[in-house]
Amino acid sequence: MKDLNQYSLASRLVRLITFVDLPIKLKFRLFSLGVLFWFTVMAALTVVGMVGINMRYDKIVNHAVPQDKVVQKVIRNLQAMTIDSSNMLKAEDHVTVERLQDLSFKRLRDVRDFSSALALGGAVNDYSHDSGKLLETLNTTSLSINPEGVLYLKSLNTLLDEIDVSYSDFFTYKLQVLNKEAPNGEHLDGRYKTLENHISRASEISVNFSSKLSELYHTSSTKISEIIEVTIFAIIGVLLVAILLLVLFTKWIVQSLAKPIKAIIDQIHDVGTGDVDLTNKIEITSRDEIGTLSQEFNGLMDTVYSMSTFKRVIEEDATLEDVYARIGDVFSRELKIDDFVIYEVNDNQRDMTPVYPLALSSKEMACNSDILTHCDLCRAKKTSHEISSLAYPQVCKQFKEETGKTHICLPMIIGGRTGGVVQFLFHGEGGQAINVPDIQSRIFKAETYIKQALSVLEAKRLMNTLRESALKDPLTGLYNRRFLQDHANHVISGVLRRKKTLGLIMCDLDYFKQVNDQYGHDVGDTVLKETATLINKGVRDTDIVIRFGGEEFIILLVDISPGDAILVAEKIRKIFDEAKIKVPNGSIHKTLSLGVSEFPGDGEGFWQCIKYADVALYNAKDTGRNKAVRFDEEMWTGDEF
Ligand code: GH3
Ligand code: MG
Ligand code: MG
Repeated sequence: MKDLNQYSLASRLVRLITFVDLPIKLKFRLFSLGVLFWFTVMAALTVVGMVGINMRYDKIVNHAVPQDKVVQKVIRNLQAMTIDSSNMLKAEDHVTVERLQDLSFKRLRDVRDFSSALALGGAVNDYSHDSGKLLETLNTTSLSINPEGVLYLKSLNTLLDEIDVSYSDFFTYKLQVLNKEAPNGEHLDGRYKTLENHISRASEISVNFSSKLSELYHTSSTKISEIIEVTIFAIIGVLLVAILLLVLFTKWIVQSLAKPIKAIIDQIHDVGTGDVDLTNKIEITSRDEIGTLSQEFNGLMDTVYSMSTFKRVIEEDATLEDVYARIGDVFSRELKIDDFVIYEVNDNQRDMTPVYPLALSSKEMACNSDILTHCDLCRAKKTSHEISSLAYPQVCKQFKEETGKTHICLPMIIGGRTGGVVQFLFHGEGGQAINVPDIQSRIFKAETYIKQALSVLEAKRLMNTLRESALKDPLTGLYNRRFLQDHANHVISGVLRRKKTLGLIMCDLDYFKQVNDQYGHDVGDTVLKETATLINKGVRDTDIVIRFGGEEFIILLVDISPGDAILVAEKIRKIFDEAKIKVPNGSIHKTLSLGVSEFPGDGEGFWQCIKYADVALYNAKDTGRNKAVRFDEEMWTGDEF
C-alpha cells in the first residue's frame, strides 16, 4: 500500500470523495447520506417554488379579486347615479324626484360603505335598492398597504363629498323648479352638469383603479408561470447532477470493492490449481476492509511460501544441528521470538539436551536442570501436550517461577513419542503486561513451523542412529575403525587449527587369549566391555576411544599439551592394573600394554603417528607387558613410513 503522500493532490482528492479508504459500512452510510442530500435539495426547491406560487396566488385570490369586485360595485352604483340624476333632470312630478333622490342617497351611502370597506378591510353587504333584499356579502382586504389604493380612496372620498354637495344643490334646485320658485333652464342644467362631472370623475378613477388591479392579476399570474418554469428547470438540473454524481460514485465504489475482490478470487483460483507464484502479491489499493483482506491474503501467501521454502531448506540441511539452528532462526527472524530453547529427548527416553541455543548452562535454563537427566519431570515431555502458564499459572513444578517469565512449552511428537520440547519464554517489556493475543498468534505460527519440521527431524534422527550404529562397535559401544577412517580428518584439522597436540595411545590386553581359553568367549566379551569402561574412566569426555579390532584399542587425546600423552597412558594402565574384573565365578585381574605417540610432534602424518604408537605398543609387549611406552625414533627400524 502506497503512503497517502505518494499520491498526487488530485488522486488524493478523488480517494477522499470516493471514500476509498473508509470502512465499507461508512462508505455506504455516506453514500446514503449523499442520496438523501440530493432528495433534500429537490424537496427544498419544490417547497420554495410552491411557497412562491402560493404567495402570488394569495395576492390575486384573497386581495386583488375581492378588492376589484368592490370597486366594480362602486363603478356600477356611480353609473346608476348618473342615470338616476339624468332621469331626475327630466322628471316633472314630486313623487319621481323624491323616489330618485332616495335611490341616489342609498347608492351614495353604499359607495361610501364600499369605500370604507376598501380602506379598513372586512365584509360589506350589497342590497337591492328596489326590493331591499341582500344581494351578496363582499369580503375584501384593506388597501392600506397598496399606495395606489390609498391614493384612489383619498380621491374617491373627496369626490364623494363633492357629489354629496353638488347633488343636494341639484336636488334642492330641482324641487324649487317644480314648485315654480326658481326658473327652469340654464341654472338647473349647470347644477346637473357639475353633479355629472363629479360622478363621472369618480367613475373614471374607479375604472382606472380597477384596471390597475387587473394589471396586478396579470403580473402576478406571469410571475406564477415564471416561478413554475424556474422551479421545474431547477429540479431537472439538480436531478441530472444528482444522477450523474450517483452513477459516478456507484461506479467508483463498486470498482473499489469489485476489483480487489476479483484479484483475490483469481489468486485463490491459481492457488487451487497449483499454478501460482507464491511471491506474487495482490496490490493493496485501499485502506478499508478489502485492503485488510488483501493484506491478510498476502500474509497468508507469505506464510505458505515461507513454510514450503522452510521445509525444502531443512530437508536439504546436512545435520540435525543445522535443522535445529534453522528452526531457531525462523522463530527469531519470522516470529520475532528471541527467548526460547529447543530440547531434544535422547533415544533412551531418559535424558534431554538443549540443542538450541547450544551449550546452554543450567543457570541460563528457565527450568530445573533435573529435567536433563530425568526428562519425564518435564510436563510437556511427559504429557505430550502444550503446557502454557498463560492457560494455568505455575502449571509446571520444574519451571523457575522466579524468572518472572511466562512459558509455553510445545512437545515435538516424533514417531509417536515426544522427541523434543520447544520452550517459548515471554515477559512484559518496560513493566507492561504481555500481549496475550499477539503471543497466541505467534505460538500458532511456531506450531505450524514445528509441524513442518517434525518429519524432517524424524528422518534426520533416524539417519543419525543408522550412521552411529555403522560407526560404533555393538559390543563395547565404542567407536570402530570405520569411524576413525571417516572422522580422522575432522579431528586432525580441529587440533591443528587450535595449535594443540593430539595424543595417540594404542593399547592391547595382555594374554587375552588365555581368558577365552580358560573362561570361554562370553567372559572374554565381558572383559572387553569392562576394558572399554575402564579406559573411558581414565580419559576426558572430549577424548575419543576406538575399538580398533579384537582386544586392541586406540585412544585419541584431543587438545593436550606436548608430552602429556604418556602421563594419561600411565594413568589408564594403573587404573586397569588395580581393577578387578567381575566374572561369573569371582573376578579376574588383567593388565594392559600401551604404546604412545603424539601428533604432530612425532611425525607430520596422522597415520604415521598411529603406526609409531603401534611400534611403541610392540615395544611394551616385548619388554615385559603391563606398561606404557612412549615412542622413540630409535624404535623405528623401517626405512620410511
Ligand atoms: P598378547 O596380546 O599379550 O601378546 O597376548 P594375547 O593372547 O592377547 O594375544 P592375541 O593377539 O594372540 O590374542 C587375541 C585374542 O583375542 C584372539 C581372539 O580369540 C581374542 N578375541 C578377539 N576379538 C574377540 C572378541 O570379540 N571376543 C572375545 N571373547 N575374544 C576375542
Ligand atoms: Mg593381546
Ligand atoms: Mg592383540
